[in-house]
Amino acid sequence: MKTIEDLDVAGKRVFVRADLNVPLDGSTITDDGRIRAVAPTIAKLLERGAKVVVASHLGRPKGEPDPKFSLAPVAARLGEILGRPVAFATDTVGESATAAVAALGEGEVALLENLRFNAGETSKDDAERKAFAEQLAALADLYVGDGFGAVHRKHASVFDLPALLPHAAGDLIATEVGVLKRLTDEVARPYVVVLGGAKVSDKLGVIDNLLKKADRILIGGGMAYTFLKAKGHEVGISLLQEDQIPTVLDYLKRAEDTGVEFVLPVDVLVSAEFPDLKTKAPADFETVDADEIPADKEGLDIGPKSRELFASKLADAGTVFWNGPMGVFEHPDYAGGTSAVAQALVDSDAFTVVGGGDSAAAVRILGFDETKFGHISTGGGASLEYLEGKQLPGLTALEG
Ligand code: ADP
Ligand code: MG
Repeated sequence: MKTIEDLDVAGKRVFVRADLNVPLDGSTITDDGRIRAVAPTIAKLLERGAKVVVASHLGRPKGEPDPKFSLAPVAARLGEILGRPVAFATDTVGESATAAVAALGEGEVALLENLRFNAGETSKDDAERKAFAEQLAALADLYVGDGFGAVHRKHASVFDLPALLPHAAGDLIATEVGVLKRLTDEVARPYVVVLGGAKVSDKLGVIDNLLKKADRILIGGGMAYTFLKAKGHEVGISLLQEDQIPTVLDYLKRAEDTGVEFVLPVDVLVSAEFPDLKTKAPADFETVDADEIPADKEGLDIGPKSRELFASKLADAGTVFWNGPMGVFEHPDYAGGTSAVAQALVDSDAFTVVGGGDSAAAVRILGFDETKFGHISTGGGASLEYLEGKQLPGLTALEG
C-alpha cells in the first residue's frame, strides 16, 4: 500500500476520503474523535502545498439531501482543529462543490457535503456507483483513502474512486491497519476480547474467527441476552436475537472443545422501561442475578458482580480488544459496566484496543484519558470485519 509520502501532491487537487461520521445532538458534535484522527493527514497534505478536497458520509440519509445529516457542523470543527479556514460546499458533486474546488489555492482545504446525499455512493449497482465515482474523480487529481471507519463498505468513494485516480493510504488507515495486524499476527497472551453493544447480529460473526485466536471472550451489553437465552435463561424484554441462538450454541460448544473461556454476566441491572436519554431522569432499576431476569423487564447494564468478574478476567491480559458498550452508557445509571471495563483496560499492562464508534465515544464521554489506551480505533464494523478475516473493499482498492 502506498503512503502519502509516495505521492507528489504540491499544487495538486487531493481528494481525501475521511470518516467524519461523528455523533451529533442536533447540530452539536458530541464526540469529535474521528475529526481529530484524520486531521494530521490533512494538515500534512496542506503543508506540502496540496489543494485538499475532503469528503465523508454522515449517518444514513437515503441517497438525497437531508439537513439532519449535513456536514456543515463538521466543517466548522475541522477548521478549529486545523487552525485554518475550511471552505464548505453545500453539495457533493454539483455547482457548489465545483466552485469550492476551483477556488482552492495551494495549502487550502474544502469539505464537500455528505457523500450519501447521492444515491450513487451506496448503490449496489456497479454502473450507478461508478458513474458517481467519475463525478467525484472530476474534482481531483489524486486520491487519499483515510476513512478507516468506512473501508468495509463497497461504496463509490471508498471502492470505485481509487481505481480512477493515483492513490495512497492516509496515515490514519496506515496506523489502524498496523494495530489490527498486531491483533492477528503477533498477539501477546492472554488475548482477551470483550464484546457488547447493540448491533448483535453484526458482531456475532467475529466470534467465529476469534474462537481460533482469543483465550477469553467476555460478553456484555445487548449481546449478552442472546447468550443467556441460549443457555436456557429467561431474558424478559431484553435485546434478543432469537434467530442467532443456534449460532451462539455452536460457539459455546466450540469454545468448550478448544478451551476458549466464555465469560457471561452473572448479574444485570433490569428495568421495566428504557431510560430517557434526553432528560437523563433517574432510572427505576433493580439488580438481579443473570438467571433471574423477570419476564417483564429488560437488562440495561451488567451488574456489580459482573463488573468485578470482567475486571478480574482482564487483569492479567497481554492483549485486549474491546468492542461494544456493556450497557446503555448514555444514561448515567447504566454507565457503570462500561466504566468498569474501561477502567480495567486502563489498569492493565496489556496492549489495549478499543474499537467501535459508540465504544470509543463512551470512553471519552465517561472521562477516561485516551492516552491510557493502546489504541482507540475510529472503526467499529471495519475492525470487526478485518478480525473476521474478511477482505475490506476500501483496503483492497488502495492496494491495487
Ligand atoms: P459500537 O458503536 O461501539 O460498535 P454498538 O453500536 O453495537 O457499539 O452499540 C452501542 C449501543 O449499544 C449504545 O447506544 C448502547 O446504549 C447500546 N446498548 C448497550 N447495552 C445495551 C442493552 N443491554 N440494551 C440495549 N442497548 C444497549
Ligand atoms: Mg455504534
